[in-house]
Order: sequence, then structure tokens, then C-alpha cells
Amino acid sequence: MNFQCKNCGGNMIFAPARQKMYCPYCEGEDTETVAGNDSLTVCASCGAEVDPGEYKSSDKCPYCGNFLVFNKRVEGEYKPDSIIPFKLDKDMAVAAMDKEFKKRLFAPISFLSEKSLEGMKGAYVPFFLYDYLAESEFSGEGTKVKRWSSGNYDYTETSYYSVERVMHASFDNIPVDASFEMDDYTMDLMEPYDYSDLMSFDPKYLSGFFGEIYNDTADKFADRAKKKAADSAEILMKKSISGYNSMKTLVDKTTLTDQKIDYALFPVWIYKYHFRGKDYNYYVNGQTGKIIGKTPVSVLKVIIYSIFSGLLFYGGIEGLLGIITGVFR
Ligand SMILES: [Zn+2]
Ligand SMILES: [Zn+2]
Repeated sequence: MNFQCKNCGGNMIFAPARQKMYCPYCEGEDTETVAGNDSLTVCASCGAEVDPGEYKSSDKCPYCGNFLVFNKRVEGEYKPDSIIPFKLDKDMAVAAMDKEFKKRLFAPISFLSEKSLEGMKGAYVPFFLYDYLAESEFSGEGTKVKRWSSGNYDYTETSYYSVERVMHASFDNIPVDASFEMDDYTMDLMEPYDYSDLMSFDPKYLSGFFGEIYNDTADKFADRAKKKAADSAEILMKKSISGYNSMKTLVDKTTLTDQKIDYALFPVWIYKYHFRGKDYNYYVNGQTGKIIGKTPVSVLKVIIYSIFSGLLFYGGIEGLLGIITGVFR
């Protein structure tokens, strides 16, 4: 399917700044009507053959440039329970990166140039949200040590405590990305998402963005969620045991019981920047604006900066010494 403007027939997209469907041709708002077909391989707009890949749920047609949603991948078993629609549009995401990297003097000039940013895209990443009940049990021997002096003597008094804790905790909506392509560590750094923006799923939110279905079933990703729950349970438990000088652990175990699992889509801006033969990946949380990625250091800018600040050379740029001395002699 695709979303067509009732006024002018143009392809409508979800506009984050307006939180509405928007027609870039006649500027109509929420004037969409669902059109097209439910084929996985035919563009809903122009009829050209498109490649839905294994996991795509929405895409941009390479021929007509219109955005389409693959019906079969947003219905039935693939219908998300919820979605956090994009809050930041591309300009807002770029502005967030600009602000973040401006302080870092060594970013290459082309870093946020229009040309470099052409390939930046907004993607809905599939997530499973796991709920668990945790039952934790701790038992240990703690000591508290008191020291004081009196007369010619130093005294040490060690008290021994038996420490027992039983804790029941429930964890709701632990997010784990269900995309093989997305790096797990990076996706974890994208957290937290603000769940107060979770909406019932509607395919219109995908128009204008690249969507993916979950790449495998929820049980295949559950280990990561369980680890997050167990780690959080451990932190809570540690917090409840404090004030001891030492602790000998006798029992420390957590049992997790599966509760509900939801399927949700979360928004991420993905920017792949190529510089001097290397790829740098940047991710902007499409809801909160949180940025993950390191700026590449431009050696040229380091040298310019160094000259201005009077520090000609220092470690890390030896490779270029020859060129520079050649110029200056
Ligand atoms: Zn229109
Ligand atoms: Zn097309």
C-alpha cells in the first residue's frame, strides 16, 4: 500500500515535526487515502518491480521515489503491538549531531555536508519488549569493623552479621532489538526510550521511513532481555545491602518468570559517513535525539589547529610530519 493525497494524488509521508501525515506537494495535512496493492514485489505507486528483501516492511521505491508499505509485513503475526513514531525529522536529527560535534574541533569539514548527509535515513527498528517477574534470594555473612584507640592500645572490634534478603521485582518492557543488522551494543546505548509516547500501531507512521519486521521470533532474542533483567535485579539487591565492611556471599540467585512480550517499532536515524577509506556509523534516537557515534579525526584540521595554537606536532600524527616539514623548509 501507499498513502496518497486526496487533494493532489501526491505521496504522503508522516511528518515528525507536525505529528501528522503531510503532503509535500500541496502541503495538505492528514489528507491521505490508502492506495495501491498488497504485493510484496510491485511498487504501490508506479507498478515497477521492487525488492522487499527478507525483512523490509516499508521502503522507498527506487524508480518513482515514493514510499510504500508492504501490507503483508504489517498485518497478522507481523502487526506491531505498538510504535513510537518519529519525533525528530531529518533536519532536527542533523541539528542534534551538529550541536554535539561542534565542540569537537577535529571533525572533518565534509562531516555534516549536504552531500554526505544524502544517504542518511530514518528507520523503524523492530524491538521485542519483555516482561519478567524476578525472585531473588541473597544470603551472606557481613562484617562491620570499628577501630579506636585508648591509652597505649589500638582496639579493633569486628561484628559479624548474617544477612538475608528475599526480593520480588517485576520488570516491564525490557527492550531488545530484533534486527540482525543493528549492532546490539549500539542499540542498547540508544536507550532509554520514553514509553509514554508508545502508540497503537498504524502503518501510516512508516510512510517516509524504512521499516523492518522482526528478524526472528521473540524466544531467539530472550537471552539478552533476561540478562538485562537479572543485572537490574542484582543492582537492586546490592542497593539493599550496604554499610558492611566485607560480605561473604553464600547464596545469590535470581529466578525469572516469563510474562508478556510485545512487539514494537522504535525510530532511529542512521547516518553512514565515509571518510578517508573508513566508514563511521552514527545513530540518532528518533524520539529523544540521543546520539551514538564517534567523530573521525581529520588530520588536516588537527594540523591547522595545531599551527594556530602554536603546537606544531605531537603524537599521533607522525605519519604526516614528512609532508609538513617539506612545506615549511
Ligand atoms: Zn497533496
Ligand atoms: Zn514506484
